[in-house]
Amino acid sequence: MPGPADPLWIILAFAFGAVVGSFLNVVIWRMPRGESVVSPGSHCPHCHRALVWWENIPLISFLALRARCRTCHGAIRWRYFWVELITGLTFAGVIRLFGAGVDGAAYCIFAAALMAALAIDLEHYIIPDSLNTAALFAGFGRDAWGIATGKAGHELYWGWLPRSVGGAVLCAGVFVAIQALGLALFRKDAMGDGDVKLARAIGAMLPLPLALVSFLFAIGAGAVIGGAMCLVRGNPRAAETPETGSADGPADGTMPEPTPWSVMAAAAALYLTFSDLIISAAAACRIGWARAVVAWWEHSGDDEDHEFVPAPTQVPFGPFMVLGAFLAIVFGDAAISWYLGWAGFGQGT
Ligand SMILES: [Zn+2]
Repeated sequence: MPGPADPLWIILAFAFGAVVGSFLNVVIWRMPRGESVVSPGSHCPHCHRALVWWENIPLISFLALRARCRTCHGAIRWRYFWVELITGLTFAGVIRLFGAGVDGAAYCIFAAALMAALAIDLEHYIIPDSLNTAALFAGFGRDAWGIATGKAGHELYWGWLPRSVGGAVLCAGVFVAIQALGLALFRKDAMGDGDVKLARAIGAMLPLPLALVSFLFAIGAGAVIGGAMCLVRGNPRAAETPETGSADGPADGTMPEPTPWSVMAAAAALYLTFSDLIISAAAACRIGWARAVVAWWEHSGDDEDHEFVPAPTQVPFGPFMVLGAFLAIVFGDAAISWYLGWAGFGQGT
């Protein structure tokens, strides 16, 4: 068996990533349209002929068929090729960084879900819940494994709160605060619920400092790219980037003893952060009381219009959060120690 950083594993990860990228292409096209991602199988978007197996080989088929359908010669979008290539490179990079183990697998799932979220949000201004949930559970799963095997970085806060759960609550909280602030100041949604759920997943997966750095990267990238896009489109109004939450890092090592109030506050924060998942789980269980809760929940959502119609100049924020998360995973630690050195705190730990 090759070791974790063996080149063979990295090559295998690239090949596997390209296959997953091929599936992500299906997800990116079908999920926002409410179609099944498993059936029917891949077909030509022009003549709807089902593809045979050798037309479905990631990267190779696309190049061999010169971006055209074999029979009707309709053009196939280059996006299919790029998604396969980028997913392959990302998986190879993940295995290089985290090794071919549980960490690497969890980060591959997380990255795949985030890439699909990026592509869908760019085009449709939504992030499907199932992608955010997949990313969230990649974070929970990795943390659970780390706790079970006693790995460093997976300690329990106050002896009971998993790091991933605490990070998810805090990061979702930061984004809900930004949402409330945007609503109060501008009377419009600065953040969609999809952004809050994405922040929750990033908080569950990344170590807390990196998660917060990823939001700063996202806001920076949003300001630069969003501003540039608005200059190109010639509309100054859209140069407004989403409000930044100057997220203060947590004070390390100072954990107060729990009091009844703090326990209740913690329970409330946990409930508010995960209520959608709790409700879904209850719905899946189909027990009597849960059915009543679900009926109430569905009814209470009736008057809300969940269809989000973007303003023509609006730039979705999700893609910047995905970009920020990827940058933070690769450069976050270096950015933090550079900043600490620059600010005169010496080298960060
Ligand atoms: Zn065709």
